[in-house]
Amino acid sequence: MGALFVISGPSGVGKGTLVKLLMKEDPSLALSISCTTRAPRKGERDGKEYFFLSRDEFVSRIQAGDFLECDEHFGNYYGTPKSFVQTQLETRSVILEIDVKGALQVKENAPDTVLVMIVPPDFKTLEQRLAGRGSETEEERAGRLERVKYELSLKDKYDYVVVNKNLQRAKRELQKIIRKETDQKGV
Ligand code: 5GP
Repeated sequence: MGALFVISGPSGVGKGTLVKLLMKEDPSLALSISCTTRAPRKGERDGKEYFFLSRDEFVSRIQAGDFLECDEHFGNYYGTPKSFVQTQLETRSVILEIDVKGALQVKENAPDTVLVMIVPPDFKTLEQRLAGRGSETEEERAGRLERVKYELSLKDKYDYVVVNKNLQRAKRELQKIIRKETDQKGV
């Protein structure tokens, strides 16, 4: 049996980059691919970034109990497919990169799940990182910062909190957590 890890953290904190590094350096880990009802963006392929489903398909899969957790963001459904996660866990550890609400749902359904939150060294740094992206209006940015505050307020519900001040150091810390928890599972 592998261990199930959820990695979450506010937008702009660098969690996507960290997860990519983890996967690259340890091919024995499995990364869960979520289902969504949103349309694919340019360059996205079905089964790679997401499994793209129609709303009807998604709803019938919710009714069939196919998701470990699911949520709605910006008018679209997103969910973690239960069967993929369960099959992978028989032989290796699995990483889910999902938001705080989804993370807490997974923990409720599977209390063994290890929740890891990536946080910025301080709020100001995150504000600067989000501003640096330059892809949002002032209003959107203010909304995102409110969301960040909400997410950070839930960090006490997480098993581990990793500060991303230095990317390599944060990556090593995550690898240590994964090794420790996976060893306990006996993989
Ligand atoms: P995007 O459409 O930009 O790829 O993702 C929008 C939001 O959906 C992000 O906050 C992302 O973390 C969240 N998300 C992606 N996959 C899942 C999932 O399987 N479950 C939940 N709860 N949220 C997800």
